[in-house]
Amino acid sequence: MVDYLVVGLGLSGLAVCEELQKRNLSFKVFENHSQKSSLVAAGLYNPVILKRFTPAWRADEHLESAIPFYKKIEEKLQLKLIYPGNIYRKFHNVEEQNNWFEATDKPRLSNFLSETIEKDLSPAIPAPFGYGKVLHTGSIATDTMLKEYRKNLKDNGVLTQESFDYKVLKIEGSGILYKGFHARKIVFCEGFGLAKNPFFDYLPLRPNKGEYLTIFAEKLKLEVIVKASVFVIPLGNDLYRVGATYNNRDTTPQPSESSKTYLLKKLQDIITCDFKVVDQVAGIRPATKDRKPLLGVHPKYSQLFCCNGFGSRGVLMGPEMAKNLIDFSEENKPLASEIDIKRFEKELLKK
Ligand SMILES: Cc1cc2nc3c(=O)[nH]c(=O)nc-3n(C[C@H](O)[C@H](O)[C@H](O)COP(=O)(O)OP(=O)(O)OC[C@H]3O[C@@H](n4cnc5c(N)ncnc54)[C@H](O)[C@@H]3O)c2cc1C
Repeated sequence: MVDYLVVGLGLSGLAVCEELQKRNLSFKVFENHSQKSSLVAAGLYNPVILKRFTPAWRADEHLESAIPFYKKIEEKLQLKLIYPGNIYRKFHNVEEQNNWFEATDKPRLSNFLSETIEKDLSPAIPAPFGYGKVLHTGSIATDTMLKEYRKNLKDNGVLTQESFDYKVLKIEGSGILYKGFHARKIVFCEGFGLAKNPFFDYLPLRPNKGEYLTIFAEKLKLEVIVKASVFVIPLGNDLYRVGATYNNRDTTPQPSESSKTYLLKKLQDIITCDFKVVDQVAGIRPATKDRKPLLGVHPKYSQLFCCNGFGSRGVLMGPEMAKNLIDFSEENKPLASEIDIKRFEKELLKK
């Protein structure tokens, strides 16, 4: 008998496992490598929406719990995972500069937007209007973190690397039974894989495919993250990640030619030096109709929970959302109505 089963080990599953361990609760994890969102993510933590210079939903609060959370994982895995680094938003005209300065005074933004205009970040990026610097940002090495975390769970005998088979899940009075495992509760963290989960497929999860190119550009000489029409993110050794795309119609897992063409066009508008594409990756972001996470308990089965809907901000949301969910399932602390899946109960009735 364990306390919990956890299905899926992306940013959501990892944060749920940490929350359970913090409370000395036992668990088993099932992971089938079907979704890649957390693995291909650039891992940026950035509380500002850089298109309009507005604050991302509760991101300043999430940042406060996220950094100590990832520090703890660094200590646990004895690995460097947090890479602090400012993001530089390239201005395309004077109007954007003005909008930026207006935003620097706004609550939830003033702490993050620098008031000086930066210039000349790379000899191969013309930027006559300069850049605005976003403070207290950086990235988490999600791919390394998840691969090492997986190894750690495997060494501790709690990871089963196979598809969770929903058909054989038995819901019993006081818990669940799955392939010989008895547990009190189960948390589903399958990202876009939730669409195949017969218990929660009524939730309005919206796929949003994202793709990145990796390029080699010897003359770019850029040392900071630049956001122009797309991000250009230095990886070291003259390699850069370029992207991402947003596509809510394509749910195929593979990288596509159309995204490559799109990103190349964007890149050619940003940089003036030669480059070579060396890689392309894709993942499906688990987005939602109202851009808020999907957290809570199944309306009929009190043993079944869901932790999903992180969209394009899993790095910042994961730790706080997992805490909210386990506070709810263990201590009955209510979930905020804007994240509670109760808001979609009508959808279940329509099924
Ligand atoms: C190109 C791209 C760039 C991004 N960049 C950023 C960024 O810079 N910053 C940021 O915060 N966010 C970013 N995101 C978004 C971020 O990746 C997501 O918010 C986050 O990864 C969602 O995590 P998740 O654990 O819910 O889902 P996933 O990462 O999809 O994880 C779900 C896991 O469940 C497993 N699974 C599914 N079904 C089953 C099953 N039946 N049995 C067993 N296992 C199963 C999958 O294999 C997977 O490992 C990006 C996303 C993409 C695609």
